Amino acid sequence: MKNYFLIIFVAISISACNKTEPVQETKSEYEHLLMSTVWFQQSAEMKALYHQCYNWATVMLDKYLENIDTTKKACVIVDIDETVLDNSPFEAKCIETGKGYSSETWKEWTDQAKAKALPGALEFLNYAKEKGVETIYISNRKLNELEKTRKNLSDLGFPFIDDAHMLFKDSVNSKKDRRIAIGKEYQILLLIGDQLTDFTEIFEKRDSTLGFDLVEQYKNEFGDRFILLPNPMYGEWEGAIYGNDFKISDALKAEKRRKILKSF
Ligand SMILES: [Mg+2]
Repeated sequence: MKNYFLIIFVAISISACNKTEPVQETKSEYEHLLMSTVWFQQSAEMKALYHQCYNWATVMLDKYLENIDTTKKACVIVDIDETVLDNSPFEAKCIETGKGYSSETWKEWTDQAKAKALPGALEFLNYAKEKGVETIYISNRKLNELEKTRKNLSDLGFPFIDDAHMLFKDSVNSKKDRRIAIGKEYQILLLIGDQLTDFTEIFEKRDSTLGFDLVEQYKNEFGDRFILLPNPMYGEWEGAIYGNDFKISDALKAEKRRKILKSF
């Protein structure tokens, strides 16, 4: 009888030790970024869309080169983030850690200088260079990110990465003045970006119509002088949903996102 109880005791103990603990699924505050980041990183459609945009940019570049103003140098203006460099690993890190964008978390990423080139970007800008067209990078990366960004672009083989061609943000978000300065020196053939504000300051004024009215007004520029790339992960479109106030709480942002959905 004594042995019998001992066997039962050992069996229960072994069973307790083998019990698999349920995996604690940590719900990140940035879980809403999951689908768009997976799409950006893992869909062939994303890759095709970038190629489509840069292929079309090549067609338009050739068209504009037929009637070039020879008194001025020619350039294309490109944004950097989600235009020529892929920062989706930063978004993935936000989901993983539950910590969103801040100057510190962002710089931790850009300091590594290891963002990959987006599909078609490198080929297009090197093609433009062959045709005598310079690249001007107008980015809202901060000046203290300039050197690491230059290293990143240089390692990937991007052209025109000297100071004169890389206009980063000092204190002003708007890219308007930087575009005007470039326009004095260059004939700007194309503008390429993932945000409408990469094209003109008109799009800085998004109100409750979320910019739809402005896009309608400028619709003929898209695929002409404006080449827009897809970015479902973040952007000014998101800010418009939050009343252009990114400082509201994550909970309120989630509520506003849900409330703006159109169902049937
Ligand atoms: Mg961008």
